[in-house]
Amino acid sequence: MTTLTLIREGYPVGFSAASAVLGAIVGSFLGVVAERLPGIVLNDEGSGNLLFPASHCPACQHRFAVWENIPLVSWLLLGGRCHHCRSPVPLRLFLIELFSALLFGLTAWCIPAEQTLFSLWLFAAFLLPLAIIDGRYQLLPDALTQPLLWAGLLIHTFDHALPLRDAVYGAVAGYLSLWLVYWAFRLTTGREGLGYGDFKLLAALGAWCGWQALPSIELIAALSGIVGYVLFKPLRKNNQTIPFGPYLAVAGMVIFIAQSFGFII
Ligand SMILES: [Zn+2]
Repeated sequence: MTTLTLIREGYPVGFSAASAVLGAIVGSFLGVVAERLPGIVLNDEGSGNLLFPASHCPACQHRFAVWENIPLVSWLLLGGRCHHCRSPVPLRLFLIELFSALLFGLTAWCIPAEQTLFSLWLFAAFLLPLAIIDGRYQLLPDALTQPLLWAGLLIHTFDHALPLRDAVYGAVAGYLSLWLVYWAFRLTTGREGLGYGDFKLLAALGAWCGWQALPSIELIAALSGIVGYVLFKPLRKNNQTIPFGPYLAVAGMVIFIAQSFGFII
C-alpha cells in the first residue's frame, strides 16, 4: 500500500479538499491556455506565450498582484472586476476554475484507483481548454489534440484497465470514422461538415477510452450536440459553423468517468 493510499484512507475529506484546491490552481492555468493559445496558434501579434506577459487586465494592462491572482477567491473578492480600472474580468475564467475544482475534489472522493484518478485529471486538463477554444473560435489546436492522443496511448502502456491494442485501434478507428463521414458529406453535398481537428480529437478519445467506446462517444456527442444546437440557437449568428469539439469532449469525459467506476462501455 502506498503512502498516498494511506493518506487517502486516513483523511478522505482532507485529500478531497486538497484535490479541489489543486483543481482550482490547474483551472486557473487552463483558463490562461484557453485565452492565449488561439492567438499563439493563429500567429496574432501581441498574444505572447502561455507564461509571459504575466496575468494582467486586458483593458488597462494593470499587472495582477499575487492577491489578485488567487483562483476563485480573487474573482469573488473583486466582484469579477479589475481592481485598477473596474472593467469586468470574464465570468468564464471563474467558471473554469470552479468546474476544475469541483471535478478534482469530487473524483478524488469517489474514484478509488489513484492511477485512474490522475489519468482522469490529465484527460480533463486537455479536454477543458479544447472545448472552450472550439466553442469560441471553431478551432481544435494540434498543440492540444496531438499530445492528448500520445498521452492516451502512453497511459495504456502501464494502466492495465485497457489493453494497449484496444487503445491503438481506438485511435485509428476514431480518426477514420469521422474522416469517412467528412468525405461522404463533402462528396455528396460539396460542403464541409466537420474539421480535421474533430478527427484528431476523436482519435485521442479512442486512444483514451478504447475502440469499443467509440459508438457510445459518438452517440453522446451527437445527442448533446442536438441539445446544444437548440440551447445556443439564439446566440448564434447566421451561417456560423457549429463546433462539434465541445460535445466530443463532454462525451469522452462521461465515458472515461464511467469506465473509472468499472462500467464496461
Ligand atoms: Zn483593468
